[in-house]
Amino acid sequence: MITIALSKGRIFDETAPLLAAAGIHSTEEPGSSRKLILGTNREDVRLIIVRASDVPTYVQYGAADIGIAGKDVLDEHGGDGLYQPLDLQIAKCKMMVAVRKGFDYEAVIRQGARLKVVTKYVKTAREHFAEKGMHVDLIKLYGSMELGPLVGLADAIVDLVSTGGTLKANNLEAVEHVGDVSSRLIVNQASLKLKRSALQPILDDFTRAVAMNVDTNK
Ligand code: ADP
Ligand code: MG
Repeated sequence: MITIALSKGRIFDETAPLLAAAGIHSTEEPGSSRKLILGTNREDVRLIIVRASDVPTYVQYGAADIGIAGKDVLDEHGGDGLYQPLDLQIAKCKMMVAVRKGFDYEAVIRQGARLKVVTKYVKTAREHFAEKGMHVDLIKLYGSMELGPLVGLADAIVDLVSTGGTLKANNLEAVEHVGDVSSRLIVNQASLKLKRSALQPILDDFTRAVAMNVDTNK
């Protein structure tokens, strides 16, 4: 049995065409089904639906052989026990620093003042500001980071931005690019050795499907 871990929502939706290219079709929609284990047209392949940030954990411990997770999530996890062969070029967005409109971020940097930051991505944020030699107090949140600067919890947020609509709606603006994010295919390192003959064709199909998409995007 090959178990593939992914999260519902955008990652499931954008992964479905890649799975289809590998001849794998879910027998149910995770949106309408409450099942956490979904069968596929292939008797030897099943999908498990987990929280986006839990995907690397399932793959690390071998409860799933393959997973699809954002680079944001993988950077926070650290990547232990994971082989990361493929950038799927889906769910693309950017990790950004954002502040309330009018907040003088450049002045904070110039003066070497301490910056209060809320984020779900504590490790990524810590590394980013350390590299810049900035002093920061990081506060971990689990969602709605945009609220932090509006109610005085923080000066800045580190969060994912795609259109910028949420920032704009909350009177925030992006001031710094931390990194580009897209979803990656990850494989359990032991599975890759033990189930190579079953896994390799799926990885090859994914690789081909991604390459074709990249070409049509040009
Ligand atoms: P959750 O709310 O559980 O974190 P999401 O569906 O919002 O789940 O995010 C899952 C993954 O999709 C993230 O880890 C990230 O890689 C990617 N992602 C998140 N927000 C965006 C976005 N605005 N545009 C594109 N990709 C995104
Ligand atoms: Mg979200």
